[in-house]
Parts: sequence; structure tokens; C-alpha cells
Amino acid sequence: MNINELAKKYESEIIAIRHLIHQFPEIGFEEIQTSQTVTDFLDKLGIPYVRGIAKTGVLATIIGDKPGKTVLLRGDMDALAMDEDPDNPIVSKIPGRMHACGHDGHTAGLLLAGAILNDMKAELCGTVKLMFQPAEETVGGALPMIEEGILNGVDMAFGCHLWGSALEGTAGYRYGAMMAAPDEFKITVTGKGGHGAYPHMTVDPIVAASQIVVAMQSIVSRNVNPLESAVVTVATFNSGSAFNIISNLAVLTGTIRTLSEENRELVARHLTQIAQGVGAAYGAQVEADVIRKYPVLINSDRAVDVAKHAFSKILGEENVSEIVAPSMGGEDFAYIAQRVPSAFIYVGIAKNVNEPISHHHPKFAWDDKNLSVLGKGLAQCALDFLNND
Ligand SMILES: [Zn+2]
Ligand SMILES: [Zn+2]
Repeated sequence: MNINELAKKYESEIIAIRHLIHQFPEIGFEEIQTSQTVTDFLDKLGIPYVRGIAKTGVLATIIGDKPGKTVLLRGDMDALAMDEDPDNPIVSKIPGRMHACGHDGHTAGLLLAGAILNDMKAELCGTVKLMFQPAEETVGGALPMIEEGILNGVDMAFGCHLWGSALEGTAGYRYGAMMAAPDEFKITVTGKGGHGAYPHMTVDPIVAASQIVVAMQSIVSRNVNPLESAVVTVATFNSGSAFNIISNLAVLTGTIRTLSEENRELVARHLTQIAQGVGAAYGAQVEADVIRKYPVLINSDRAVDVAKHAFSKILGEENVSEIVAPSMGGEDFAYIAQRVPSAFIYVGIAKNVNEPISHHHPKFAWDDKNLSVLGKGLAQCALDFLNND
């Protein structure tokens, strides 16, 4: 049987698995039931695996009948801490938990790819590893799995994201930087509190912190090369306890998004300098911390070439195109792409280009038929890399 016939063979089972995972969402490092669902299906197919990698991660291995290279396919399993709209077609049964990013589809789709490739073992030259990872949405499960050795011997890796701003039946690839480093910052401004009527006897941290917020706006406009992109967002500003008290403290937190390691360093350095310099000008003490999160996701040209042709076989060449601009969202597949040549692919789920589907929204929903695109696409990537590349 070919990939299409095999996808048909497993279709109803994979849809049922997706529905089950969708109804019982679990957040980062709590994917107990989800990884059980994964290993139950792997057991049924007779695919060996190791579980409990980075707590809830699973690594399955399919060894082809012929020797060759090793390819890794990755899917993330975690949900988000939010309520789902009860009018969605399939609804979470766990309050405060929702698969609002499509990771239920990534998990089920990766199982489909595994089922297809396992049935094609006789013609497979080399080894396929299936990586089911925890905690993409929170602190990241990819790096701890890598630290446990899952990339040893891996020659190339592929991953997909179901994508709300791309049309159903299409896939998008991108050479080079595709998703941003989503760093975090925290600025603590310590002044000297006192009576709201006697500001001259205080150091007002709200005034100092406000000037820091304004001054930080020049990092993107004056320090970053205008032909490159970066974001500095102040997301929280907390200070004060009553209308007539000048506070001791103001705390700012926010996010920095950059698309190169150079800009990542540059923005962090300027942010720290501005916060400390402006704070000092107002007589306040400033502590500025930039917390490094996932790296920039940078695809390898060679892996993108493989993925582009593989998805063209599944969807038709006219439905596979280069993404015009990278996304300022973050993705911990970046840790894999940092270590082995990799490609990350967007699989469209929007019914209409003018109505993109918002991820992380209570109404986030997509059609089951996209599961087979993701599963077949990943299977074709693995097959093409192992048998032709
Ligand atoms: Zn997400
Ligand atoms: Zn996601």
C-alpha cells in the first residue's frame, strides 16, 4: 500500500485518538493520559518505545529493513490552561484545560506518520524516531528530552504546526529563521516610598519606571537595524497600594522577540542599559533581568528542500509555498533545529483566507481532515530523506 492508502486505513482510529486527546487536555509535564494514549497505540502497532523521557515524553523507534540514516519526527502533546468554548465541535471535558494550539493534532498526526512508516518498513532504508514531547507551551520539553540523548545518531528532523492563518489544504515552509526567540524580562525599580503629598522627600518608582517604559521604545526604532525585526513589549506594570502613598517599588515584565542571535544579544544589552541608566537618572535602583527562553527557530536549507518536495507530493506543488515572513511567536522545536538539520512546516487549517483561526483562543477549532495532511506529510519527509536524499 502507498502512503495515501495507509492513511485511509488508519484514518478513523487516528481521528478517534485526536478526539480523546482533545477531550482530556493536559498541560506541560502533566501529559500522563496523553502519553498513555500514545503508547497504547504504539503497543497495538508493535512499535517499540521508551517512555518517561523528561517526565512524560515518549521516543518510539521504527527500524527499516534496509540500513541507512536516521530521521526524527516530532510532535508536541501539551494543552493550555484555559477554558474551551462549549460550542466547539469537540469540547474539552476538563475545566481550565484546552487544546487551543492544535497539539492534539500534532500528537495524533505523528502517530499516523508512525503507523504509515511502520507498515512500510520493508522498503525503509534506515531508522525513524518519533518524538512525543511535553510542555512546548510552558517551559519547554524539547531541551530536557535532548539532554536525555534523543538526538544521538539523528541526521535530520522534521516537525509541523497546524496553522490558523494558512488555508486548509496548503503547507508553508521557510528557509532560515522561521520563529522568534521569545525571551522574557523583569525590571525591578526600587525607589523610596513616602506620603503622596510630599514627593520631594521620596524617590518615586512609578515615575522612574514610566520613563523606562518610554525610553525602551527606542530600542527597536533606534538600535535594531531597520531591515530586521524585533519586538519589545511591556506586558505588566505593577506598583502602588493606595491613592495617597508613593510606593517603594515598581515591577515591569514583558517579552522580547528577535529573529537572530545578534539581535537577541543587542536588545537584551540595550534594555538593561536603558533601565539602569534611566533609573539612575531618577535616583532609583534598578535590577534588570533578561530570561532566555527558546532560541530562534532556524531551518536548514537541505531539510526544507526535502520537506517542500515531500509536502508537494501530498498536496500538489501549487499548494505548498514559501512563507513570506517569519512569525514572532516562539517554538521549542528550535532546540532540535539548533543541533541537527531540520525543517518546521506549517499545515493550514483555515477554511477561508480572510478568516484566520486564532490560536490560544477559546473558539480555536479545526477539521479532522487536516490530520492526514500532517501525518502523510511527515511520513513522506521521512521516507524521502531516508530513501532518496
Ligand atoms: Zn501555542
Ligand atoms: Zn503550538
